[in-house]
Amino acid sequence: AGLGTDGAIDRSAMDRQWVEVLVDCSGTQGLYTYALPPDLAVRVGDILSVPFGTQQVGAIAVRLLDTRPTELAADQIRSVDAIVSAGFFPASYWALLNQVAQYYHTSLMQVVKVALPPGLLARSQRRIRFLNDEKTPLTAAARHILELLKASKTKDYSWQFVQRQVQGAHRGLQELLKQNLVESYLEPPATMRPKLRQAVTLISTEGQLSERYREILEVLKRQGGEMWMTDLLQLCRTTTPTLRKLEQQGCLILQPREILRAEGLPEVGEEGAKSLTADQAAALQQVQQATGFTQILLHGVTGSGKTEVYLQAIAPILQQGRSALVLVPEIGLTPQLTDRFRARFGDQVCVYHSALSDGERFDTWRQMLSGSPQVAIGTRSAIFAPLPSLGLIILDEEHDSSFKQDQPAPCYHARTVAQWRATLEACPLILGSATPSLESWVTSHQEVAQSQYVSLPKRILNRPMPKIEVVDMRQELRDRNGSIFSRSLQTALHHLKETEQQGLLFIHRRGHSTFVSCRSCGYVMECPNCDVSLSFHHTHENAKPRLRCHYCNHVQNQPPHCPSCGSPYFKQFGSGTQRVMQELERQFPDLTAIRFDSDTTRAKGSHRALLTQFSDRKADLLVGTQMLTKGIDLPQVTLVGVISADGLLNLADFRASERAFQTLVQVAGRAGRGEEPGRVILQTYSPDHPVIGAVQRQQYEPFVAAELKQRQELQYPPYGQLVLFRISGGNAVAVQKAAERVAVELSKSTQYAVLGPAPATILRVAQRYRWQILLKFPSHDGSKVPNLADLRSLCGSTVSLTIDVDPMNLM
Ligand code: ADP
Ligand code: ZN
Ligand code: ZN
Repeated sequence: AGLGTDGAIDRSAMDRQWVEVLVDCSGTQGLYTYALPPDLAVRVGDILSVPFGTQQVGAIAVRLLDTRPTELAADQIRSVDAIVSAGFFPASYWALLNQVAQYYHTSLMQVVKVALPPGLLARSQRRIRFLNDEKTPLTAAARHILELLKASKTKDYSWQFVQRQVQGAHRGLQELLKQNLVESYLEPPATMRPKLRQAVTLISTEGQLSERYREILEVLKRQGGEMWMTDLLQLCRTTTPTLRKLEQQGCLILQPREILRAEGLPEVGEEGAKSLTADQAAALQQVQQATGFTQILLHGVTGSGKTEVYLQAIAPILQQGRSALVLVPEIGLTPQLTDRFRARFGDQVCVYHSALSDGERFDTWRQMLSGSPQVAIGTRSAIFAPLPSLGLIILDEEHDSSFKQDQPAPCYHARTVAQWRATLEACPLILGSATPSLESWVTSHQEVAQSQYVSLPKRILNRPMPKIEVVDMRQELRDRNGSIFSRSLQTALHHLKETEQQGLLFIHRRGHSTFVSCRSCGYVMECPNCDVSLSFHHTHENAKPRLRCHYCNHVQNQPPHCPSCGSPYFKQFGSGTQRVMQELERQFPDLTAIRFDSDTTRAKGSHRALLTQFSDRKADLLVGTQMLTKGIDLPQVTLVGVISADGLLNLADFRASERAFQTLVQVAGRAGRGEEPGRVILQTYSPDHPVIGAVQRQQYEPFVAAELKQRQELQYPPYGQLVLFRISGGNAVAVQKAAERVAVELSKSTQYAVLGPAPATILRVAQRYRWQILLKFPSHDGSKVPNLADLRSLCGSTVSLTIDVDPMNLM
């Protein structure tokens, strides 16, 4: 049975005598049963205060029970103390969280922690407040607590303080709670407490009032009869005591009002709906005709106007009094998108992501819970936004790998969770992309009513797709151009300055994971057993560099010369933004460039600041990494230069081609979105690589067809399913031995193939050695993994084992 999908209007709740709760206490897992006092109408999703050991802790009501669990005697069961916060979760939510916990093999509490604002449970303080004086004789401890509370100025103490002061505090408290003499409540940490601000409301302008008083009331009246006190004080140059006097006269009321903390976003102008193109209108119609759960893949080329379709699909949902959820890869990268939503829907837009402060997150969370119709925009974890009545879910750039959480558990994919959530809410799910993931492509072409495919094959106003020119960097070298800029790109950069246009330079940079290739012939070292390139490893300064396969653990030395042509220019590959900035300065001193990567965008709001600088034409070029590919709309950009596509083409992952294609098409798609046509210069040492050809032709379907054929042959997703085990610990030998034992155990089943054990790309991270084992199921059977507890017992106490279902990052 699902976990308490009843809840909201459960009339029988009053008859239930027991409740199962999740306890927020480190080291505890699973559910605990408590008795319900007859007068406590607990509902599923309430936050409760319960005794646990010698403590009193926060807990979440998960399921109400009619009968007492047989394994527990009545006197073994303790009672719930109090409801701390009622209705903290929408009803259908529990089914969702439970599904996530089951599918990803994690505890429900771990899932709850992703879903809740951080620290809400763990950092909240249990407090005791005086309510009534004693009517009946009390035990010594109870009386002591009561006296203590009564003597306090606020008639209220933290439970910790009471415990320190009173012997036998726990029993005493039980007694007081039972008699309703005190209440126990959970106070969120200071950063999460509601923020209050004094407001002034006009009541009357009548009465014998001095000229000065009359003036103040006139000002208040002109401002609509209601103002923040600070504003009124400033406007009238008056003081708080004056306002208090007016309050005593019955002319106005001063009262604190809760204000919602939200990220201070700049004002945006209002914007009406655009008149749709025929393609957009057809797409919108298909969304609006969907009844119940329907997954719609909106496949629109870059600049085809997908966002406008989202906006117009959301508008009627809000009018019906329901809410919409929009997920984007990285909120910092898309201030433009949130601005567009705010221009259309104003205050109904709320933004929820990890860069918010705890207070902002908590307030946004409660605002979402209020049930008023709104559009929540957020990153991965916003899929758990507690919107009670969802009418639509949208995943923009659905192919983006940031929707998958690699660690810590639960290693969920927001797209998978979105599918479950949309099913539970019986609402449509739009997956938008110019380069859909193969998973979504395959699903949307199934012959079932719940999956649909819609395409926007052309850019808005028939603007042309950018022209893509592939430059063979081997030829540049032969022609004695040693610069990181090809001659073609150099000419284009000179031209940029003359025509006062703007450009982007894209660099692919991926930490330590690099492949080895020949600068002369483009040859790339590959694994003899697997269809992936070998990775370059340099574990520490004095060690010999080695090449390694991450699928089968084949290891070899790096040859000094190219095995194909004998060239000595045979090295690992990598070129960062910094180096490109230096080269620009040296070769093009006239051009100004803004660096846009994880180093320069660390501060809050810096994405927005840099993009604004660029839009204001304070620079000719934007130089950056992956971030440039994610949905940025800069209509004035006409030139896109890809410094080198090679780092992308040769990642040691079966998704390497798919990712390379997606990234290159997305980055090319930044060119020519405005009135001027765009041009892309794509530099590579492997111009014959199939991905390069596919990108140049900008044809998604033939590329995908070929790629899917391979996946099917090798039983990789979306046909087969993968489950990854990560094994790690501080001792290299212990970790390797544990990984070997686990692999032997896993090999006893014939339901899947076992690949590995093999060390992770970066073997040691934060003093931990990491190994992995990959299971390959011929179909979607990933739930059939051996019991995790059994596998963990094979690892011993110093080695940990985690599981990643449907892993996206195999390195
Ligand atoms: P996508 O998300 O598909 O890459 P966008 O939604 O960003 O594309 O649209 C590209 C540009 O076209 C934006 O500047 C947008 O304002 C504009 N646009 C979208 N739809 C229309 C329309 N129906 N009429 C005119 N301009 C439009
Ligand atoms: Zn060579
Ligand atoms: Zn291999």
